[in-house]
Amino acid sequence: MRYVKFKNCKEQVPIGKLVCVGRNYAAHAKELGGEASTEFPIIFLKPASNVIFSGNKVIHPPYSENLHYEVELVLYIGEDIKNGNDEQAEKAIYGYTVGLDMTLRDLQFEFKEKGEPWTLAKCFDTAAVLGEVILKSEHTLRGDENISLSVNGLTKQSTSISNMIFNAVQCVKHISSRMTLEKGDLIFTGTPEGVGRVVPGDKLYGQIENIATIETTIIK
Ligand code: ZN
Repeated sequence: MRYVKFKNCKEQVPIGKLVCVGRNYAAHAKELGGEASTEFPIIFLKPASNVIFSGNKVIHPPYSENLHYEVELVLYIGEDIKNGNDEQAEKAIYGYTVGLDMTLRDLQFEFKEKGEPWTLAKCFDTAAVLGEVILKSEHTLRGDENISLSVNGLTKQSTSISNMIFNAVQCVKHISSRMTLEKGDLIFTGTPEGVGRVVPGDKLYGQIENIATIETTIIK
């Protein structure tokens, strides 16, 4: 079992499900050849067993030739919510961190073409890298923080989280209209443009201004 890592809190909360939002920044939807729709974007899941933390290493699966990083704002759900309104969705978000949604882009494109689920492109051991969660009681999200990711010191992704098509509250509200969210669940809210390939030896550093940082190295 894996537990949420908090910045200033010793509570032991087992990580539940990881609910990931796809295509939530228009410029990223375009770079993958898709469209940002006005309907709610794609949702997929990752298991808690995929989680590693900042400082741990991402293991490059041998059956992929195109491992990509995706840096994302991650929401920590602190209480159960089902069919929430705006106010309840805001209340259910207890904290924030930065995460990496590691993706096997070659497998993803094959699955997309065949109309099959993305599961094995998104789920593998070490596919979800998490920073420390900062609780909302300690720090309020402004909503226009910079989110960025660098590979070997070169900035690859950098934008404001205000460019999210659906903001944090809208993501939680929508997901809770389709499935109950429980304490310990984490929401990956989508990645901005600039995704790209990494290979063993590459060092990744991600951050969301005033929220959290994350670092990892890719290994074989
Ligand atoms: Zn993602």
